[in-house]
Amino acid sequence: MQRIGLFGGSFDPVHAGHLLLAQAALEELSLTRLFFVLAAQSPFKTDNQFAPAAARMQLLRLALAGQANCEVDDQEIRRGGVSFTIDTVRDYARRFSDAQLYYLVGADNVASLPKWREAGELARLAEFAVIPRPGEAPTPLPLPFRGPTLKGFPFGVSASQIRARVKAGLAIDHLVPAAVAEAIGNNRLYL
Ligand code: ATP
Repeated sequence: MQRIGLFGGSFDPVHAGHLLLAQAALEELSLTRLFFVLAAQSPFKTDNQFAPAAARMQLLRLALAGQANCEVDDQEIRRGGVSFTIDTVRDYARRFSDAQLYYLVGADNVASLPKWREAGELARLAEFAVIPRPGEAPTPLPLPFRGPTLKGFPFGVSASQIRARVKAGLAIDHLVPAAVAEAIGNNRLYL
């Protein structure tokens, strides 16, 4: 049976915390494929998006270049508007009807899961794999969500921190892949 991971986010920008989360999920869940799903607009971040979708997509592709098993999914960008995870998970459940789907979330997202659109249906279609995040108390999955908690490689970087560092003229080397740091500089993002 295929084991497919779905990792949604704003990736504004993608950073080492995301990549470590992905690596942990590939290993601990023995995933056959892992799709990074770039949100057009998160329902929970409607006021604050910083780089346009095309730029966030470019950074994501640079970060994942040559990474076996990792793919970028642009379906939420093509749909446009506010991105709802249920639409994406339904699409995977239809296309990979025999696969086990795992939706990956950082521990900071667990408490809000019951507020996600069609939460009951979402919980039925995929298991939710929770990855620890420094500074976030471990929280059990609220019912009816189910799924494993991973060990991960806890690393407390966030996209907000990267943006703040770029704005302040501080280095972001080692917090994002080198090609991502270079593209952020060349495109004058987050200034
Ligand atoms: P921001 O700082 O703008 O809120 P973010 O760093 O949380 O952004 P997102 O693109 O919103 O990045 O996150 C996508 C997913 O990755 C979410 O499930 C989030 O919990 C998870 N995530 C992000 N950074 C980490 C990290 N350092 N450790 C564990 N999970 C993380």
